[in-house]
Amino acid sequence: MGEIELFLKKRADEGLLRTLRPIASRKDGRIRSKEREYLDFSSNDYLALAGHPRMVASARQALDAFGTSSSASRLMSGDLDICHRLEEKTAHFKNKESALVFNSGYQANIGIISALYSRNDCILSDKLNHASILDGAKLSGAELIRFNHNDPEHLKSILESHRAKFKKALIVTETVFSMDGDRPPLKEVVLLKERYGCELMVDEAHATGIFGAGGSGIVEEEGLSAKVDFIMGTFGKALGSFGAYLAASKNIVEYLVNTCRSFIYSTALPPAAIAANITAIELIQEDPSRGKRLLELAAYFRDILTSSGFAVKGASQIVPLVIGDAAKTMALAAVLQERGYWVLPVRPPTVPQGQARLRFSVTLHHKEDMLRSLVNEIIKIGF
Ligand SMILES: *Cc1c(COP(=O)(O)O)cnc(C)c1O
Repeated sequence: MGEIELFLKKRADEGLLRTLRPIASRKDGRIRSKEREYLDFSSNDYLALAGHPRMVASARQALDAFGTSSSASRLMSGDLDICHRLEEKTAHFKNKESALVFNSGYQANIGIISALYSRNDCILSDKLNHASILDGAKLSGAELIRFNHNDPEHLKSILESHRAKFKKALIVTETVFSMDGDRPPLKEVVLLKERYGCELMVDEAHATGIFGAGGSGIVEEEGLSAKVDFIMGTFGKALGSFGAYLAASKNIVEYLVNTCRSFIYSTALPPAAIAANITAIELIQEDPSRGKRLLELAAYFRDILTSSGFAVKGASQIVPLVIGDAAKTMALAAVLQERGYWVLPVRPPTVPQGQARLRFSVTLHHKEDMLRSLVNEIIKIGF
């Protein structure tokens, strides 16, 4: 057997082979496969904007006006002025001087970090940060130091012993962690950044649209936009569309336009996605209470799980139900699926040993009675 075959066989034997599972459609909080329909507890369309009539209408309008493609990278001839409108809106939304649109969150993170940092610098990254942040740090050639999850004491001790060795230092954290649904002590991180002369980047992928009085994210909620150098986030989650952004100073944006390889060497977002992104920000700004309603619904779900004796983590619309044993977790997910609930089991190595879990995404497609029926179902199954 060749190397590839051995790898695949080993993965399959261990029950760890990842496979693609086509679905026929996903709409209105439901997933349809050929055979049947499921309630969707795995979607990042937290605010139910992906099917919103105004989102669809603006995408369609752009499609009619500009066709299906931007047809070139931004620096060649793909630089539609609606993309500049989106960037102005984004900068305003995130309360920063300027913004730059990227084709995806993955491309944003690998491109931003590797353009701004290099060999003599260091990247201090929370241990649970997204793979794209890790890849960006590796690509930069800077020294990567990972600090314990949401542990400012650990970060401080690393800075104490290592900061002086490096020219520039970047601290990077998510503002809502995608597997744990929790948030960092951002004010403490800001104090450390200032004390040790670092720069700070946050990834608001799961916070944008949901937290803060204006719905812009956790940086807004904590009043820290002036203190965070690089605010990155995506349009593909709560904003119901596709693409990503960085909000930062004008100089940084200009520098990235000149140096960021994932920005320069890639075709611009399709016009329909740009138009939908603009509409998503407008919808949030017109009615920022969507996020509040979502968080109240998630708090309700946490409450009924906790009062039924289950262990839940986090403080957001991401609700991880910790089962512990990986096999039990897989079995529970399978039974829930048989009963019409589409929920993702997460197990080591994605999470630490003994912390296998079901990760529920609460969205505005859900209603309190659906959440209650789901909890009753879990109680009935027992584990
Ligand atoms: C989803 C996600 C990304 C990647 O964004 P895409 O637009 O899907 O490429 C980056 N960071 C975090 C924390 C994410 O959850």
